[in-house]
Amino acid sequence: MKDYNSFDIVVIGGGPAGMMAAGRAAKLGAKVVLIEKNEILGKKLLITGKERCNFTHNEFDIRKFAEKFGRNGRFLYSALAVFGPLEVIDFFESRGVKGKVEQGDRIFPENGNAQDILNVLIKYLTEGKVNILLNSEVSGFKQENGKISQVLLRDRQIDADKFIICAGGKAYPQTGSTGEDYQWARQLGHTVITPVPSLTPVKTSEDWVKEVQGLSLKNVSLKLFHNGKKQDERFGEMLFTHFGVSGPIVMDMSKNIGGLLKNGPLKLILDLKPALDFKKLDKRIQRDFQEFKGRMFKNSLKGLLPLSMIPVMIKLSAIEPEKKVDYISREERNKLVHLLKELELTPTELLGFKWSVVTSGGVSLKEVNPNTMGSKKMQNLYFAGEILDLDGPSGGYNLQECWSSGYLAGESAAKLP
Ligand SMILES: Cc1cc2nc3c(=O)[nH]c(=O)nc-3n(C[C@H](O)[C@H](O)[C@H](O)COP(=O)(O)OP(=O)(O)OC[C@H]3O[C@@H](n4cnc5c(N)ncnc54)[C@H](O)[C@@H]3O)c2cc1C
Repeated sequence: MKDYNSFDIVVIGGGPAGMMAAGRAAKLGAKVVLIEKNEILGKKLLITGKERCNFTHNEFDIRKFAEKFGRNGRFLYSALAVFGPLEVIDFFESRGVKGKVEQGDRIFPENGNAQDILNVLIKYLTEGKVNILLNSEVSGFKQENGKISQVLLRDRQIDADKFIICAGGKAYPQTGSTGEDYQWARQLGHTVITPVPSLTPVKTSEDWVKEVQGLSLKNVSLKLFHNGKKQDERFGEMLFTHFGVSGPIVMDMSKNIGGLLKNGPLKLILDLKPALDFKKLDKRIQRDFQEFKGRMFKNSLKGLLPLSMIPVMIKLSAIEPEKKVDYISREERNKLVHLLKELELTPTELLGFKWSVVTSGGVSLKEVNPNTMGSKKMQNLYFAGEILDLDGPSGGYNLQECWSSGYLAGESAAKLP
């Protein structure tokens, strides 16, 4: 019989991965304690998907899903086979929270509330009688005979047979994931691939972005160029901010931008009208000018551009704003077409961990067994979630990684000797 300070399994970190790991292990009959330094569970989970929680992606082919994580994605095959997007949708739906597929195959809870997802997880933990320690920070581990024997908190030590570290990465540290826990992984014999911010907003040098801050553009195309060569291209939604650009397509490109910036200057080329080629767009503008005959240029762009973008485009086009559209030359019109199709932005740096969505890098996958999430260095240690060297694009991939790896870690820790 274990006393109140002694458990089968200790789970460190009450984020998505930790809650899933603890809940699954408890469901299999293990006596589990979940340790979280924040005052609540799932602090980051609550702000995911603009507080709507894009909790998985509508992709049920495991290989295709894993591919989104790049070269490291293969590590996820087993975890996705055990608890992939289908199982996750079923997990939440069978507990009263239906998934809804939205633009870009992103899946959100039907009522669009991240709290619904957290409530399901808390109920799962309560049903499994998981001991939840809030406001409790792990400050170290005690090792005996090549195994971890205790986890150390400020005011107590906890004994356990197995330990699952789900402490997150370094992204958005204001939610608790400060990256300090990589040091425990290192102390326990693991290699940590240098963490860098991923899915992060991008600073640009153009001053005019400030004038359109808050403007979100849908169905635009963004290309990344280095030394005149195209390096990346995305289509979808982006956002202007007071420092530069953000939103899904920028975030997804940020890893490449960060990598390439080390090698010299870059250019982003924004196509505001990707559905029209240069010729068709020119025809469209000519039609607009015909319609607005006798009016000033500054009053002729409403059908073509969002309102806040108009003054910026007028300035960049260098066309006299009060000029009657009838007098706009072909050359001036060409300039406008080029601006709409090839608006230049110059990335200067990534915004850094404070505002990035995930961490690229972390505990090396070479030292973790993909079939169990168990450490190859320490026999009673497991990892799950963002602390691992895995990062996917936006769209629900990263939370799915947490559910899958957390579930498998919890199951393995509970079942394996
Ligand atoms: C703004 C934002 C929006 C996002 N939106 C989405 C989205 O819509 N879809 C998606 O798939 N992904 C999204 N993500 C990414 C997703 O939130 C993460 O991938 C996920 O939260 C990682 O889960 P985790 O359990 O590994 O780590 P975390 O969620 O970071 O949880 C780790 C927990 O461990 C605790 N902890 C750390 N160290 C200790 C310690 N020493 N002792 C005790 N506790 C400790 C931390 O306080 C934290 O609560 C978003 C991220 C951000 C920042």
